Amino acid sequence: MTQFSLGDFQPVADRVFVAVAEPAGVNIGLVVGPSGALVIDTGSAPAQGAAVRAAAERFAGVPVVAVLVTHWHYDHLFGLAGFAGVPSFAHDTVPAWLGRPECRTAASGLGVAVESLATPTNTFSLARVLDAGGRRVEVVHFGRGHTDGDVVAIVPDAGVIFTGDLLEGAGPPDFGADCHLKDWPGAVDGILGLVAEETVLVPGHGAPMDRMAAFRQRAEISGLFGQVEYLISRGVRLPDAYAEGDWPFDEATVRQVLPLAYAQLAGAGIVPRTQLPLA
Ligand SMILES: [Zn+2]
Repeated sequence: MTQFSLGDFQPVADRVFVAVAEPAGVNIGLVVGPSGALVIDTGSAPAQGAAVRAAAERFAGVPVVAVLVTHWHYDHLFGLAGFAGVPSFAHDTVPAWLGRPECRTAASGLGVAVESLATPTNTFSLARVLDAGGRRVEVVHFGRGHTDGDVVAIVPDAGVIFTGDLLEGAGPPDFGADCHLKDWPGAVDGILGLVAEETVLVPGHGAPMDRMAAFRQRAEISGLFGQVEYLISRGVRLPDAYAEGDWPFDEATVRQVLPLAYAQLAGAGIVPRTQLPLA
C-alpha cells in the first residue's frame, strides 16, 4: 500500500515555498501573489493533489489560481485532478501520455485509477506567462530532455527557477526510458542562460541547487552521452561499455542508462563497427 504524505511548505525565496510530497519525494512549488497563488507540480494521486491544494490555500491565505505541471511523470501530474476548476498548464505533449501504457503502469503501481486522472486545461509549445495572483511567472520549454515536454517556471521577482526533473538535487538525474539523452544538456543550457550568481534553482527532487551545481550536473549528463558516443566510435559494444568507460555517475545509474544510450544512438544510425566499411 503506497503511503502518501505532504510536508510543510518551506521558504526558498520571497513568497516562494516548497513542500515535499511522498512517496516520490517530489518538490511541490508555491508562488504566492497578492490575490492568488500558483502551485507547481501536483503530487502522485488525485487525493494528494487535493491535499496540496488545501494545504497551499491554508498556508498562503489566498486561493490557488493556477497550476503548472512540469512534465507528465506520475509524481508531477497525477495530483492534477485534485485541482478541479483551477486553470492548469503543461507542455503540449503531456495530454497524450495519459493514454499511453507508461501512464497506466505508473497508475496501477500506485493504486490510482487511470480514469480518475485529469488532463491540463491549457497547453503550450514554447512559452507562456502565468499570473500568480498578481505576480508574473514565466514558463518555458527549452526542448526535449528528461522527457519530451519538460517546462521550467521562472519567478523573476524572486530569482527562483523551478526546473522540474531537468535537474535533480537528490542524486543522479532520473534517466527513464522516455528521456532524450542527446537533447537534455541543451535544455539545461536554456536554464543556465537565465541563472545569475544568486538564483535559486528548485529541482524536481531534493534540495535547492545553485549555479555551480547546475553547471556540474549539465556537464555530467553531456559527459555520459559523449562517453557512449566515444565508446561506440571505438567499436565497443554494450556488454563491454561499462568496463571500458569513464563515468560521471555511480555504477547502477550508468548500467541502467547504457542500454538506453546505445538504443538512442542506434536510432540515429550510430552503432559500434569493428571493421572498416568496404569502399
Ligand atoms: Zn520526472
